[in-house]
Amino acid sequence: MGIVRSLFLAGSQSQWLKERAPRYSFVRRAVSRFMPGETVQEALDAALAMRNLSVGTIFTYLGENVTDASEADGVTKHYLGVIDRLRERGLETALSVKLTQLGLDLNKDLCYENLDRIITYAGGQRPVWIDMESSSYVDATLDLYRRARTSSPHVGVCLQAYLYRTASDLSSLMPLDPMIRLVKGAYNEPPERAFPRKQEVDENYFSLAARLLDRKTSSGGVRAAIATHDCKLIERLLAYATSHQLPKGSFEFEMLYGIQRTQQLRLAREGWKSVVLIAYGTQWFSWYMRRLAERPANAWFVARSLVSN
Ligand SMILES: Cc1cc2nc3c(=O)[nH]c(=O)nc-3n(C[C@H](O)[C@H](O)[C@H](O)COP(=O)(O)OP(=O)(O)OC[C@H]3O[C@@H](n4cnc5c(N)ncnc54)[C@H](O)[C@@H]3O)c2cc1C
Repeated sequence: MGIVRSLFLAGSQSQWLKERAPRYSFVRRAVSRFMPGETVQEALDAALAMRNLSVGTIFTYLGENVTDASEADGVTKHYLGVIDRLRERGLETALSVKLTQLGLDLNKDLCYENLDRIITYAGGQRPVWIDMESSSYVDATLDLYRRARTSSPHVGVCLQAYLYRTASDLSSLMPLDPMIRLVKGAYNEPPERAFPRKQEVDENYFSLAARLLDRKTSSGGVRAAIATHDCKLIERLLAYATSHQLPKGSFEFEMLYGIQRTQQLRLAREGWKSVVLIAYGTQWFSWYMRRLAERPANAWFVARSLVSN
């Protein structure tokens, strides 16, 4: 793994930086490339604009590793309020939640209760995705996903292609007819747990994605989200889907707000399901550092923001 990537990922864990960096306006300006704003209102406006371009949306309220049950309860209530606002606007926007923001570090049952409140309130039509955090959380996350899946088909979980274990996790989830979002993985993982080379991660991504798409044709039950900005992988998977005659609506492409916008629009124009994850909230520091780690060249935008005012 690149040294710069490791540095950004180490920075994402630093409490010292988390408290100080957001005070600087040049950092805030740089972040705005990936977020329409900190408020729900700004996220809603962005979702309406994306809808006009035939691009779907997913909301995530930034934050992780809460240390207090009342904070986890506050996050849960926040999501319930957001569902009300989405209903008022007639938006089909899905939600994506982090279990450590719902109290996973405090108590697994409490976390499940919070998750279940959100899924129940979201009702039948609005998917709720569960993010995957660092590898120490995979077992607990999949446990809670399995529990949630027994009560709702509209809950999905993220799997990370950089982990060796993901191929067998996928096999164990398949009988549940799961909803799976496949990503490469955004955390700092040791070589004992994750492929250290990008090329290996990319190959694993392709083979896992092909398994997800194949399964969709055979059982009709699995809903797959191909969450990547990697144009080469996207082209390979489009060719795969076309040669296997997969219907265009049978899976979706997901990307992050502000990244590869041309691709997002192009996929939508061509009739594929294209969905953008919109992050908002004030707790963006760790999340933003992971975005910098994914593409260290992004640090130039931070530097440019420093001199552009
Ligand atoms: C909808 C969605 C949900 C996600 N949820 C999770 C999750 O729950 N858990 C998790 O570990 N990870 C999650 N991720 C992040 C994911 O793991 C990757 O870190 C991230 O998507 C970058 O990998 P990539 O597949 O785009 O490929 P890469 O090979 O990293 O990037 C391919 C190309 O995309 C562009 N690109 C990628 N990232 C950036 C960036 N930050 N800024 C500018 N350009 C960029 C560049 O042009 C790059 O060359 C999510 C990603 C998406 C899109």
